[in-house]
Amino acid sequence: MSPGQSSADGPARDPHCLFCSIVEGEVPAQVVATSEHAIAFRDLNPQAPTHVLVIPRHHAATAAETAAAGGLDAVVSLAVQVAKDEELEQGYRMVFNTGPDAGQSVFHTHLHLLGGRQLAWPPG
Ligand code: 5GP
Ligand code: ZN
Repeated sequence: MSPGQSSADGPARDPHCLFCSIVEGEVPAQVVATSEHAIAFRDLNPQAPTHVLVIPRHHAATAAETAAAGGLDAVVSLAVQVAKDEELEQGYRMVFNTGPDAGQSVFHTHLHLLGGRQLAWPPG
């Protein structure tokens, strides 16, 4: 069984999930890269010159759930490819906001890929 596709993890798609609708092409998005198990598209409200969201095609609410299903490698690997495509050799940040205290607002696992400017640390 391929990564992130375990039937024990629940259905691949949540009919009420915005990012599942983007995976299905029902909600438009500016897609920049795809792979067998992940898809990358520009954030609607970018916080840096490059702000791309990378998500697993298989629905899971958080990065912790996707990790448990073995699906994170596909997400991180596609993010690395997008960072190369966007020529972010000066550096970039990958962030998984996970849960309410982290400000997660969409409960379909997503990696924020941010770059193209100096990024402050610590984050807010
Ligand atoms: P979170 O706050 O959950 O870590 O990040 C959710 C991100 O999804 C936010 O940065 C927000 O701008 C982005 N977002 C929310 N709705 C949409 C949408 O319909 N399309 C796209 N491309 N991004 C969205
Ligand atoms: Zn979803």
